[in-house]
Amino acid sequence: MKKPPFCPNSCCDNYHFPEGKWFVKSGTYQTKRLGQVQRYQCRDCGKRFSEEIFSLDYHTHKYVSYKTIFQHIITSSGIRDLSRILNVSCTTVTNRIARLARQAMAISSQLTQDIRITEDLVADGFESFVSSQYLPNNINILAGKDSQFWFLSDYSQLTRKGRMTPKQKEKNSEIKKIVNIGRITVYKSFSDIIRKALDLHDHSEWEATSLYTDEHKQYQAVINALSFREQASLKHICISSKLARTITNPIFSVNYLDRELRKDNSDHTRETVQFAKNVNNLMDRLAIYRLYHNFIKPYRINKKEYKDETHGSMAGISTQNIRKELRTLFTRRRFLGQNLMMDNSDRKLWCRCLFTPLSFYADLYPGYILS
Ligand SMILES: [Zn+2]
Repeated sequence: MKKPPFCPNSCCDNYHFPEGKWFVKSGTYQTKRLGQVQRYQCRDCGKRFSEEIFSLDYHTHKYVSYKTIFQHIITSSGIRDLSRILNVSCTTVTNRIARLARQAMAISSQLTQDIRITEDLVADGFESFVSSQYLPNNINILAGKDSQFWFLSDYSQLTRKGRMTPKQKEKNSEIKKIVNIGRITVYKSFSDIIRKALDLHDHSEWEATSLYTDEHKQYQAVINALSFREQASLKHICISSKLARTITNPIFSVNYLDRELRKDNSDHTRETVQFAKNVNNLMDRLAIYRLYHNFIKPYRINKKEYKDETHGSMAGISTQNIRKELRTLFTRRRFLGQNLMMDNSDRKLWCRCLFTPLSFYADLYPGYILS
């Protein structure tokens, strides 16, 4: 690193607007992993820091290939698989995945902060579970109708429904007593999706944006609670779930994402033992997959005219900006305070605020991730 990009003290002016010669060199120190590391000091606030603070490997003792983790996480590998491949513990793998997820969230936020949508939107819930089939969840997804760009995902916890044996019913009612969650969480989660859709509409040049969903009652309830002006700018169109899941289906985008997630993300592959055990870790892996889907995966593989297009470029994001951000995906650490436009759903995940039912352990995180 030739020079530090900014002062890592989020209260200092040089955090957002470093200008001129704002730092001085302040000695070096030796580490086993990196050798000689340069130290600096901010001339304004006096904070001393090393170049290592800007590295994705900040606060680690062992080098692990982020590229290998990324390649496996998007192709349905489990944590134990990765632990064996990389010859490190499962905890180390999970730690590096969380770092990659924060990179993915920051890059998504950076690339979409000025987006001007020129298409309608589609939203739907993706059903999976954490820890036990008695703890199903609904991950609400907002996507572009034509570009299949994945704007946002938001987690909501459910309790088990449907046909059960008497023994299963008994266990389910016991779990419901401990895990006091109603279907209301879908309402809250979908409200965040609607906020994002309204925000995207406000940055478009359209008089009204259509939002396609299925006929879920909670979705309609959220729409009904909007103001008259909001309802006029977001035209809600319900599509029957019985309609064939083909490319002509108006909610094809989310159906397509649903299919890809079942195929590529081991947390959601049906009838296997590779299900998620922690909500934050599940959403971390989903954030990485979202980055891959939006900015790396080709838009279409069989059509020459879309050969170099990604879902992000189809949504109007510059290919040059995408490449620039991806170049430092595995190296330059992103900071929360430098991504103030990040969506609330991602911000909650960044700070590991999602609650895992029946978990007796708190989700601890290192303080430096909040800077
Ligand atoms: Zn400073």
